[in-house]
Order: sequence, then C-alpha cells, then structure tokens
Amino acid sequence: MGGQDKDGAIEATLIPGDGIGPEITRAVVAVLEALGSPFAWDTQQGGLAGIEAHGDPLPGVTLDSIRRTRLALKGPLTTPVGGGFRSVNVRLREEFGLYANVRPAKTMVPGGRYEDIDLVIVRENVEGLYVAFEHYIPIDGDPHAVAISSGVNTRAGSRRILEFAFDYAARNGRRKVTVVHKANVLKALTGIFLETAKEVAPRYAGKVEWDDRIVDACAMQLVLDPWRFDVIVTTNLFGDILSDLAAGLIGGLGTAPGANIGADAAIFEAVHGSAPDIAGRGVANPLAMLLASALMLEHVGRGHLAARMRAAVAKTLNEDNIRTRDLGGTASTMEFAEAVIRHV
Ligand code: NAD
Repeated sequence: MGGQDKDGAIEATLIPGDGIGPEITRAVVAVLEALGSPFAWDTQQGGLAGIEAHGDPLPGVTLDSIRRTRLALKGPLTTPVGGGFRSVNVRLREEFGLYANVRPAKTMVPGGRYEDIDLVIVRENVEGLYVAFEHYIPIDGDPHAVAISSGVNTRAGSRRILEFAFDYAARNGRRKVTVVHKANVLKALTGIFLETAKEVAPRYAGKVEWDDRIVDACAMQLVLDPWRFDVIVTTNLFGDILSDLAAGLIGGLGTAPGANIGADAAIFEAVHGSAPDIAGRGVANPLAMLLASALMLEHVGRGHLAARMRAAVAKTLNEDNIRTRDLGGTASTMEFAEAVIRHV
C-alpha cells in the first residue's frame, strides 16, 4: 500500500495512459478531489506516451515510482504492434507479482438484458495455462506440425489466490465463494486448485459459504441464473474468459473496473482499452476508471469514500439521467464528471 505522509496523504502513481486515457483520467482526478480523496499523485507515463517520453512503454522511472508508492491508478495503454515490445500489462504483473485480478460485475444502468447483477470474479493472474509456456515440434518439414502448451499451477499459488478470495468475501460482506475448475478432466492441473480449496475453505466456516463448479457448467449457469453467484475464484485462463462473460452480463466492458493485487503492489484500471476511435473528442465514458478508483479507495481503507462515489454515480446515471454516449446519453466526459461531483 502507498506510503502515508504526515498529512495523511497517500502517495500513489498515476499513469494517464494513451488514447482516451488522459481525458478520462482528468475526469476521475476531478471527482476524487471533490470527494476529498487521500491520494497525492506522482504522475508517470506508460504505453505510447512512455515510448515518446523515455523510449519504453514501461519506462524505468514509472517502475521506480510504483516500487516506491506500491499503488497505481492506470489509464489504458496502447500496446504497440511490432517493435518487439512485450505487453505492458504482463510486464507489470511479473514485476510486482500481481497474483490476484479482481473484476466486479455490478449493474450500473438498469434496462439491460439482466437486472441487479452483483458478482465478483477473482482470477489467478500469474500461473496456469495462460502463462503460455509454448513450443512447436516440427515433423516432416512442417515447423508447426505439433503445438504444445504446458500449464503450471502450484499448491502455494492456489492457496494464495483462494485465501485472497475468501478474505475478500469475508471483508466485503459477501456470503459465498464458488471455486471454479475442470478437475474432472484436468485432474492434476486444476485438481490441485480444488484440492487446495478443500483445505482453505473450512477455515472460513461460519463466515463464508462455499461450493464448487466445473467451468463449463458455471458458464451456462452464469447465463441462465447469474444471481446464484457471489464471488467466483478460478484459475488464470478460466478467469480470463468468465470475467468477460460477467462483463457481458452488465452490458459490456464500458463500465467494468479491475484491480491487480500482489504482495508488492496494487494497480487499478478500467478493463477497456485506449479507444483510439473516439480519443481526443472528450466523449469517452470515465465510469470504468472511476469505479477502478473506488476499488483503490477501498484498498487503502477508505471504503466510506468509495461508497459515496458509487452513490453519486448512481444518482447521476439513474436520477439525473446524465450518461455518456456509449450508454445512450449525450453528456461529454467532463459533463458526466461534473454531474457526479455535484452529488458527492
Ligand atoms: P477498446 O476497449 O479500446 O475499444 C473497444 C470499443 O469500445 C471502441 O469502439 C471504443 O470506442 C469503445 N470504448 C472503450 N472504452 C470506452 C469508454 N471509456 N467510453 C466510450 N467508449 C469506449 O479496445 P480495442 O479497440 O480493442 O483496443 C484499443 C487499444 O487498447 C489497443 O492498443 C489495445 O492493446 C489496448 N488495450 C489496453 C488495455 C489496458 O491497458 N488495460 C486493455 C484492452 C486494450
């Protein structure tokens, strides 16, 4: 967590990002200021802006800043195609051991296909098949005759993410954790996850209920009856897929925030990208990044400010009917932010 100075301010790294990043970041910072948030920002660059300023999408000064503050709010970064740069998000995960990806899916605007969705996907972020230990075996002159991918899940990694999910549930008044796996087929790779869940879950008996589901059945039930779920914890690749499914239940990625949490740092962001098609026009929706900053407030023990922000957002969207264009309204990025500010 970020260091506190003598005024109670918490130093945090701010990466405005690319495309719509700087516009939505301005809006989010204005709302946080109006709320009296504790953050003292150290603004650093990443993505294309990082390449322009320092020749690297993840410059050393940006990494140093996060090493110091251990807390960051990040705008979307454009990963350059070609040029040999690795994904900034993967580098950040590795650098800071961000083993937990937390993706809440909560209905913000009624009238969609599903009402009152409120669930959280906790995805293991650094192990499993998603890590992509891959190679080909050439046969008879075909260099890609056979493709092999190895997944690695460890007892320690499984325990760490399961404890995180149960702690998260207990801390946030959630009633149930569903452990999602494919232990009937991938008996070792995901069996170890279920086996470890059976060791971890009883320690939370009386506080948090739990059950388990096979991933394919879980996907179907999320579509048929998403209200039966509360917190879902799962391995990396399944979490990647199910968290987008859950975002679909609330109308897409536009309002979805995410937190990447590790032992050494925590980084908060919108799930969407840099939206180059609408960048620079002041029409982007700042909501997902705003909700990411609410998760960041909760992370530093300012849950009361997060609650105030969410209440102000709900009034703006559903009482004032002020929405950006992606949600069917006409408000600009800053008009939306100013309306939220009137309610905080
Ligand atoms: P995108 O999420 O940027 O855009 C998809 C569509 O959603 C576009 O039509 C866009 O206008 C719209 N959209 C996205 N966010 C919006 C917002 N806040 N308000 C209104 N409309 C919004 O996805 P993409 O086009 O596939 O990716 C663009 C770039 O973003 C790529 O370089 C990609 O690598 C990067 N990206 C970064 C992150 C990240 O940093 N976390 C995540 C995803 C994609």
